[in-house]
Amino acid sequence: MSKSWTSTLRLPKSTFPPRASAQLREQYIKRSADDFYEWQKANRPSDDTFVIHDGPPYANGNLHVGHALNKVLKDMILRVKVQQGRRVDYIPGWDCHGLPIELKALGKAEDGGKHLTPVEIRKSARNLASNTVLKQMKSFRSYGVMGDWDRRWTTMDAAFEMRQLRLFQKMVKKGLIYRRFKPVYWSPSSKTALAEAELEYKDDHVSTAAWVRFRIDDSWKDVPELAEAAGSMKGGLYAIIWTTTPWTLPANQAIAVHDDMNYSIVMDGEDGYIVAETRLDQTQDMLPNQTSSGASSIAGKHFTNLSYRHPLKGKSAPSQPIIHADFVTADSGSGLVHLAPGHGFDDYEVCRSLNLSVTAPIDNEGKFTADAYPDDPDRLTSAPSINHGGSQSVIDLLGSDILHVEKYKHKYPYDWRTKQPVVIRATEQWFADVSHIRDEALSALESVRFFPEVGRKRLESFVKGRSEWCISRQRAWGVPIPALFDKNGAAVVDEATVEHILSVMKDRGTGAWWSDAPDDPAWIPSRLSGEYRRGTDTMDVWFDSGSSWSMMSGQADVYLEGSDQHRGWFQSSLLTRVAAGAVEDTGFVKGAPFKQLITHGFTLDGEGKKMSKSLGNVIEPQQVMDGSLLPPVKRKGKAAQGPPTYDALGADALRLWAASSDYTKDVAISETVLRAIHTALLKYRTIAKMLLGSMHESARSAPLFTADHIALIQLRDTMEEVGKAFDKHEFYRGFSILNRWITNDLSAFYLEASKDRLYCGDGGGVIEPIFYGFMRMLAPMTPSLVEEVWEHRPEWMKQDMAVVHPLHQLYATPVISEDRLTLDLPAVRKDIPTLMAVHSAIKTGLEKARADKVVGSSLQSSIVVSTSDAGVIAVLERYADELANMFVVSSLEITAGDASPSTPGWEQYKQEIDINGSGVKGTIAVLPPHDAKCSRCWRYIAPVEDSLCGRCEEMVKE
Ligand SMILES: [Zn+2]
Repeated sequence: MSKSWTSTLRLPKSTFPPRASAQLREQYIKRSADDFYEWQKANRPSDDTFVIHDGPPYANGNLHVGHALNKVLKDMILRVKVQQGRRVDYIPGWDCHGLPIELKALGKAEDGGKHLTPVEIRKSARNLASNTVLKQMKSFRSYGVMGDWDRRWTTMDAAFEMRQLRLFQKMVKKGLIYRRFKPVYWSPSSKTALAEAELEYKDDHVSTAAWVRFRIDDSWKDVPELAEAAGSMKGGLYAIIWTTTPWTLPANQAIAVHDDMNYSIVMDGEDGYIVAETRLDQTQDMLPNQTSSGASSIAGKHFTNLSYRHPLKGKSAPSQPIIHADFVTADSGSGLVHLAPGHGFDDYEVCRSLNLSVTAPIDNEGKFTADAYPDDPDRLTSAPSINHGGSQSVIDLLGSDILHVEKYKHKYPYDWRTKQPVVIRATEQWFADVSHIRDEALSALESVRFFPEVGRKRLESFVKGRSEWCISRQRAWGVPIPALFDKNGAAVVDEATVEHILSVMKDRGTGAWWSDAPDDPAWIPSRLSGEYRRGTDTMDVWFDSGSSWSMMSGQADVYLEGSDQHRGWFQSSLLTRVAAGAVEDTGFVKGAPFKQLITHGFTLDGEGKKMSKSLGNVIEPQQVMDGSLLPPVKRKGKAAQGPPTYDALGADALRLWAASSDYTKDVAISETVLRAIHTALLKYRTIAKMLLGSMHESARSAPLFTADHIALIQLRDTMEEVGKAFDKHEFYRGFSILNRWITNDLSAFYLEASKDRLYCGDGGGVIEPIFYGFMRMLAPMTPSLVEEVWEHRPEWMKQDMAVVHPLHQLYATPVISEDRLTLDLPAVRKDIPTLMAVHSAIKTGLEKARADKVVGSSLQSSIVVSTSDAGVIAVLERYADELANMFVVSSLEITAGDASPSTPGWEQYKQEIDINGSGVKGTIAVLPPHDAKCSRCWRYIAPVEDSLCGRCEEMVKE
């Protein structure tokens, strides 16, 4: 019977648990986030601070994994910078004003908020936003995100609002702010103007489209080109137009043709109809009896002196003109376009250039006003709103002038919050003139770095495509536009008036703008005489968040948000800063507010669908942390009867998912993805436990073998590659490089090769340097895991004050002192491919033998390498003494020549050596061991059964 030698072995021992308890996990997160942030503020140099300026999340509702992706990406970038020796600055912020919160506040009131005053609405909205900020902050912190949480900012802070109003004042001074009656996107469902960034386009919107005729005044008969048609026509001549918004017909002010397009006149009964030649087919259905009038190929310019009657405009209304417009094309409608400048951007531009008046006879809710049909106002004021049948009322009213009605499916803008269609409506609004700063904004982008680079074109195109920015909203929950109005409704906005208003706000708060008595004289500067009232518009929330850069002394190193912010926050931040910089300001570094712009994609479910509340596929970060998206843990016995439990890996799981995601595209989260994350995390824990249990103080002075040098080379190469990927914010690349190293280099090679030395030998090797390297690579991704591992470091390491906490270590500091190396690393590096090729051949041969149950452990073998390749022989000879241990076999022999020895029954366990696909360089043969199994180390090198090998005899003597 062999004696048990277990007590003489150094089996790995560690207190590191398979899972951390929830309570401990919280502690590790606090230490690796809050405490660590404070530590770096105190210990990293202050002269070169790295700043990520937070794109404020909206303080409404629950967080989803997209929020977590954003915050964790920022956090990882900051942690990489601390590893590089920088101090970092990150002050989280929240976007708190705006419609969704206001709607929620109204919804909480009993009657839907109809009777709430603006002061009451604002109070309720502020409460909602404040509570949400605290809730969201708690969640963000549970992800291990570090930052200056106590100095957090919100767009509803008094100081923030004042800075924003100062910025507005600068733009007023520069002449960049003006008020105008012109079309804007209007949401009848929210009763406010909307910015482009607040629209969502729906591809399958169905409109009621109508073909409508307008009778041309008789003066057409005097046009020579039309004389022939005039002779044969007993009835009237009509222009045909096609519109997808019949409700805009009451606002029609003109009909446009194109000067150079050709038109025909077709007859139907006694009447003639003008249609573009290319569109004649379209009129077949609505004019079934049509015949040719003989008048064809008449250039559009011959119609532009004509006028027509609009039947809805009232008996005394003047005729309206037919005009030329560049945007009329030969491939849609009739080739004649209905122009309603109060309801169309192009219409507005062309009509204004001709001094045609602009009307928009609908109210805030999309109901017709009395101006829509002056002859009998009730007919349309009693009609449903324009999005709910208003078009049909107009069609009914036009009667026989409607030639045809059809359903038309097309892309159409919707309110991003209410999910209801929006319209274009002229209203009095405040605008920021962007056209004058556009070139400067574009040139400011030239020095900005974009990741991914495709973002540059996107942001440029949004800036190029915008000439003005509607900054006013007709809502209560926002920063007031500091404007006064006289008795006639004329607005007063100039630098001095704004200055006066701001001085009152400084004393009374912005809320006083609403709560003070309407006639409170304090708000009116003394130089204005007469009656004035305060305006009730608030600013676009993109102006709020867009002015957040003003809290920084200079530019941020990084802005990082979802790719939808090119047209939102990135753009509004750029424009407001460039606008402010245009004012001569001392000490203001002009340019974009960001040096680098990083964008990430949206989060998708397992089927590649964008997450949305309506699809019900939104994943909350909590679900990733508590493991409930994966099947429950299998349990045995009585426990299996109880409620299911899930493998909760906490913030580590959420963060590693973010780290592993190629966020330059949309990011999927599914069971498969999370399973891979869990597997990786469990592997990290296993490796960490093994390293913790195998670090011995004595190893610091033990000699290094070849395997140790190889492991150091592999570690250095990996750390360098991972470091580069992290520096370029490509965490997903770093993650996969790290995993490859763990699998191929660490698990399959070094830890295997070291086991005998660690457990049965002197315990030497380079486990400690590997431990530091591993921790440094994990630090940005799973800092709380690093903290937890550190807590379980061996006692002797805790006593050693010279060892630096892995989170505090500089990434580039060498993991081992150079003077411990006994081999020339470049020389070893050259030999590695040969050694690994031989190792790989041996492993394959052994696997076959093991599959045939010829051997159990790999130690139950002796290996003969036969080769006639002098290079291979030279390499192997150099490390001859160490090869058996390095390859975890009991003995290894090198023979020159191609003849490979055999033992009966073992012939098939030969394997060719191929160095990186360069052809066969020799053969290895797996043969039975020569000696007996050592009962302590299990290597087959003992002289007789049940004895010890020479090394083990020495070890147990000590
Ligand atoms: Zn032994």
